[in-house]
Amino acid sequence: MRKKIVAGNWKMNKTFIDAEELISDIADLLEEIDLGNTEVIICPPFLFLEIATDIAEEANYSVGAQNMSDQEAGAFTGEISGAMLASMEVEYCIIGHSERRKYHHETHEMLARKIDLALTHSIRPIFCCGEILAEREAGMHMEIVKKQLEESLFHLNETELSSVVIAYEPVWAIGTGVNATAAQAQEMHAYIRDLVKTRYSQQIAFETSILYGGSCNSKNAKELFAQQDVDGGLIGGASLDASEFIRIIQSF
Ligand code: PEP
Repeated sequence: MRKKIVAGNWKMNKTFIDAEELISDIADLLEEIDLGNTEVIICPPFLFLEIATDIAEEANYSVGAQNMSDQEAGAFTGEISGAMLASMEVEYCIIGHSERRKYHHETHEMLARKIDLALTHSIRPIFCCGEILAEREAGMHMEIVKKQLEESLFHLNETELSSVVIAYEPVWAIGTGVNATAAQAQEMHAYIRDLVKTRYSQQIAFETSILYGGSCNSKNAKELFAQQDVDGGLIGGASLDASEFIRIIQSF
């Protein structure tokens, strides 16, 4: 049975005291609910990973980073490696977020290297894919997502792929307040699952968690998460408020 997952991507938000408070609040609220088959992942900025992993020792969430270098080590000023994340007991890393593709010009090849390095260090990638508005309007959204998966992910073998979480994040829905409809999300998630089935196997496709991301909040999560192929969400803005994040987690 594949896992349900709700992951919070804080992006570049919060300072030290606020981050500590938000993580503690989420941890406290998580104690009060029955998570069942749902895994909660918190992805704060690098600087707050240590607080997140410390508090996680006694709490019911996992910790993810928002990015990592495509290089193993060395003269790459300002970068953070997979080995460093692993040494901080970080379990997940978001790879291929559209903001990194756009602002940091991350290419398919670079993302493939990040995926490989993450797996080398036993970090589970949360691989983001999704089309921009013009691509959807041109009816190219399936083609775009297929290429993103083929170029950065489908070189993995079955065992490696089984450690990956896929997040479908239509770029036009991220931070805009306009989420994909449940039907649009389901259509793309079913398509992604079918691509995984064709490239790997029915079993792997069935077991891969595919998250939806893009203006997901406690008002629309229930309908989105009710879709057969939507296994949870990657949540940006709405993960910055503990009560709102918990309401989303309770939307299954
Ligand atoms: C994201 O950045 O991954 C995201 C889904 O953002 P938001 O929920 O704010 O649209």
